[in-house]
Amino acid sequence: MGKSKDDGHVVNKDAYQRINFLYQAAYQSLNRSPADLNLCKFYVNIMKTITKRLVLRLHPDMKRNFCRKCCVLLVPGLSATVRTKGKREKHTVVTCLECKTIKRYLWCENHKLWVDHPELWLKRDECT
Ligand SMILES: [Zn+2]
Repeated sequence: MGKSKDDGHVVNKDAYQRINFLYQAAYQSLNRSPADLNLCKFYVNIMKTITKRLVLRLHPDMKRNFCRKCCVLLVPGLSATVRTKGKREKHTVVTCLECKTIKRYLWCENHKLWVDHPELWLKRDECT
């Protein structure tokens, strides 16, 4: 793998586009064959490698959409179950159906599934 020494924001923009593409590819492979997650994991792994190498910050909505343990894209009904729990402090519980890892995070009214909003990827606003 060739490593560019002048990692400016131009390179980052290019990386974002690549990650965007990989994310869509991961989503599509999952959508097409939910029984075989290898391709999906493969794409997510490449994404992780790119973000780690270039030290890119992922949008928080984006981060929520992967399983940290097995790298599967968490899509409700396909590879994950999503439940909202708690009366006062609502929080969302996401279970990865592949490795059964459970993630919890506080309910965010503005939470959107990133895949429906690819433009979010380029925004740096934090979801508060
Ligand atoms: Zn998992």
